[in-house]
Amino acid sequence: MKRSVVVLMAVCMMLGLCACSGKSNKLVMATNAAFPPYESVEGSQIVGIDPEIAKLIADDIGRELVIEDMAFDSIIAAVQTGKADIAMAGMTVTEDRKQNINFSDPYTEAAQVIVVKSDSDVESPDDLEGKTIGVQIGTTGDIYAEDIEGATIERYSKYFEAINALVQGKIDAVIVDREPGKVFVSENAELKMIDEEFTVEEYAIGVAKENTELLDQINASLKKLKESGKIDEIINKYITAE
Ligand code: GLN
Repeated sequence: MKRSVVVLMAVCMMLGLCACSGKSNKLVMATNAAFPPYESVEGSQIVGIDPEIAKLIADDIGRELVIEDMAFDSIIAAVQTGKADIAMAGMTVTEDRKQNINFSDPYTEAAQVIVVKSDSDVESPDDLEGKTIGVQIGTTGDIYAEDIEGATIERYSKYFEAINALVQGKIDAVIVDREPGKVFVSENAELKMIDEEFTVEEYAIGVAKENTELLDQINASLKKLKESGKIDEIINKYITAE
């Protein structure tokens, strides 16, 4: 009896160890899959520029990519607490975020733009003064909206919800990243995008402060993928140049 318990314990420990080493081989990516063309849900899969780049990096460093979909404003905490290894969510590099996580070298340029109804009198960022502006909570759009004089900010958990509120006339404008903005405008005939860009930004991959080895691996991978033209290839597949 006693012996079988010992054997059982040994088996459990072995299984435990296996499960553990299996886990460490996974590269868990925290994202918010409501941000096309960078990440969105298609059937049972999460597709887009970020998952494709992440897959190439995971392959390159010999790890298995696992994607965890969550609210955008939970992503940094997920990386800090080790729930996820990387943050990849069309995430803009900001000084504030750098206090909490490290960023890889940037993999693409981005911008914030304004989306309004086609008949709106808003023609430039200056015209947003005193307006009601929709943003996704915790984004750079949210941060910029705070600097607009007299503006009322409506914060949504997903950009889709902000866009719906705009279509319904509940808010005057949405500040959103350029490429997702283009997708939303293409899906809603009554919306348009203001040409003038609000800010220019860069997207990068977030990694926990203490995980410098992974950061180095990611940067080395990104360098190779940029030089071989793979990153451009993926981006061009999703974003057609005007
Ligand atoms: N680029 C913006 C940011 O980093 C928005 C990203 C997103 O909504 N997925 O705040």
